[in-house]
Amino acid sequence: MRVHGYNGGHGNIVLNAMRYGRMIKLDVLAVGSLQRDGDGKVFDAHSSSVLIRTGERTIVVDTSTEYMRPAIKTAFRQIGVFPKDVDTIVLTHSHHDHIGNNGMFENAAILMHPDEHGAVAGAVPLETGADLVPGVRIVHTPGHTKGSISVFVSADKKYAVAGDALPRYGNYEGMTPPFINIDRDVALESLKMISRYADVIIPGHDPPFLTNRR
Ligand SMILES: [Zn+2]
Repeated sequence: MRVHGYNGGHGNIVLNAMRYGRMIKLDVLAVGSLQRDGDGKVFDAHSSSVLIRTGERTIVVDTSTEYMRPAIKTAFRQIGVFPKDVDTIVLTHSHHDHIGNNGMFENAAILMHPDEHGAVAGAVPLETGADLVPGVRIVHTPGHTKGSISVFVSADKKYAVAGDALPRYGNYEGMTPPFINIDRDVALESLKMISRYADVIIPGHDPPFLTNRR
């Protein structure tokens, strides 16, 4: 896994794992961030954006914000992939800080949970609880929003691209559901499901981190 974006201290971790006889590569195009003012009100939020390449598909999970566009473009250049080669965008949910660069990927289908696809132009519903391609699974992780999904990637390790089902490291550390949620208990169940699965979590608004699952 290689980590790009406006975040110091995260070197290049390369993931080239064989799975089902196929190569799965995962790169973090942009490291998510979130800032609150003194009253706890969010004033600056940019989601993580992740590139997943398999033999069959080139997938971006969340496209972050316009502010992150230069960083994402740089990441594509460094990785050696053209945005036009992305064939699939998976959006973890419809909030604006996760969908701001959909327009960068002219050839991509936009996939979302059936409960939320109507909120984003051009998006079509996807099947949850199923593999998008072998090794890349779409998991319904509701609670932040009704149609929140996470992408579970089974490669050399188990990776979860969590979106805002697990927005920050602190949510994992304290097992506390996302501050913004439609149902606290449901959100907590989703958080636990992600934590049980993943060796590495890529949160919606923090750098990736290793879990202590083992
Ligand atoms: Zn959100």
